[in-house]
Amino acid sequence: MSIQSNLENIKSTLPKNVTLVAVSKTKPVSDLMQAYEAGQRIFGENKIQEMTEKWEQMPKDIQWHMIGHVQTNKVKFMAPFVSLIHGVDSLKLLQEINKQAQKNNRVIDCLLQMHIAEEETKFGLDEKELNDFLDFVQNNKEELQNIRVVGLMGMATFTDNQEQIKKEFTHLKTIFDMLNQLPTSNIQLLTLSMGMSGDYKVAIDCGSNMIRVGSSIFGGR
Ligand SMILES: *Cc1c(COP(=O)(O)O)cnc(C)c1O
Repeated sequence: MSIQSNLENIKSTLPKNVTLVAVSKTKPVSDLMQAYEAGQRIFGENKIQEMTEKWEQMPKDIQWHMIGHVQTNKVKFMAPFVSLIHGVDSLKLLQEINKQAQKNNRVIDCLLQMHIAEEETKFGLDEKELNDFLDFVQNNKEELQNIRVVGLMGMATFTDNQEQIKKEFTHLKTIFDMLNQLPTSNIQLLTLSMGMSGDYKVAIDCGSNMIRVGSSIFGGR
């Protein structure tokens, strides 16, 4: 199957409100260009240097999403162009993104990464940390004018157990809905990024509106 037909097959099954991020990490620019020529404009990468090199070489109407864990000292390299950072899970990182966005005269959209999986290894916030995080953002609006928290991101446990995956995604959706219903909050969370090649269908059933799909488009890595 070609990249173009993979992309078309996936897109034909997606509800209108679901945004597809084509995860192109490790793949050459020629592969990304095939997706671009098929109409794809949102690409996800997990390494800042690789994303920056691809950004330099590719058309400038692409939206680049950073989906990986971000080291604070590398934010400056993507601040001129990144369109959404999915994996924000520390205040130190958020403050650095704000600082670098300011230097570039931009506002950078961020998703807060939640820990929903059973595995210890995945990054992300628990519910208590999320509440503290959002309080901090609310209380420091003056300083944080160059970032916007626009949603949540999560990764389910890597397992074949569909019930487990469904439980984790549903949990994240519940948190997402709850925050949006808080009367006192003026943070509006619009984006819920959950679902990858193996589990995006379940994720959409559970309320995801942004999926990050790599191998089902570009093949295995
Ligand atoms: C690699 C990656 C994906 C895409 O994974 P596939 O299984 O290839 O679709 C999605 N999200 C994150 C955070 C990733 O690192």
